Amino acid sequence: MEKTFVMLKPDAVKRGLIGKIIMRIEDKGFKITSMQMMNPERSIFENHYAHLSDEFRDSVIDFMISGSVVAMIVEGDNVIEGIRKMMGKTKWQDAMPGTIRGDFTNTTTFNLIHGSDSKDNAEIEIKRFFTK
Ligand code: UDP
Ligand code: MG
Repeated sequence: MEKTFVMLKPDAVKRGLIGKIIMRIEDKGFKITSMQMMNPERSIFENHYAHLSDEFRDSVIDFMISGSVVAMIVEGDNVIEGIRKMMGKTKWQDAMPGTIRGDFTNTTTFNLIHGSDSKDNAEIEIKRFFTK
């Protein structure tokens, strides 16, 4: 079964949206096989967000260490694409109603959820956040 790495960001935790977001993932039929609330060090996010433009990388990382995140491994058929569809697009104006970002946020930085975008990245990200 395909696996992906999903992370609820500090805004989701602070706004009390953990339950609502997890409900959507479970209602869809995907299986959460690991889950942990954690406070990763800055260096973890420097790797995780190395692909971002210099313009906003530091502010995104500041946000990611501003509170706890909930890290998950989620499994299912084509789960990588499935979760990405459920998340909605990165730019908030493009995130359609019915998606997590489309329904719950109106900013591009504070956008509640991360999901891996490829099989290779899913494997790297699961190792990055679930080292033990
Ligand atoms: N981000 C941002 N401004 C941008 C693009 C991205 O603040 O113009 C933030 C946003 O929190 C996003 C994260 O950086 O989720 C990672 O960007 P990526 O392009 O990987 O988007 P994602 O895969 O999360 O949709
Ligand atoms: Mg991404």
